[in-house]
Amino acid sequence: MKVKCVICERIDTLQDENPLAKKLRNRPIHTYLCDECNDRIATKTKENRDPETYRLHHLLNKEADF
Ligand SMILES: [Zn+2]
Repeated sequence: MKVKCVICERIDTLQDENPLAKKLRNRPIHTYLCDECNDRIATKTKENRDPETYRLHHLLNKEADF
């Protein structure tokens, strides 16, 4: 089955035997996160547990890159 990552909108294909595919079939497709975003979020969540602060932090970091 094809799944779309909610963050980067990358389309991934999961094997039907994949336990994650079975799980997603019973849930809305927007719950899927690709490995990359999963890792990124896991790391960021560890650094900062407040989602609002994380969002601000993320925006500031983005601006600082330019
Ligand atoms: Zn992603």
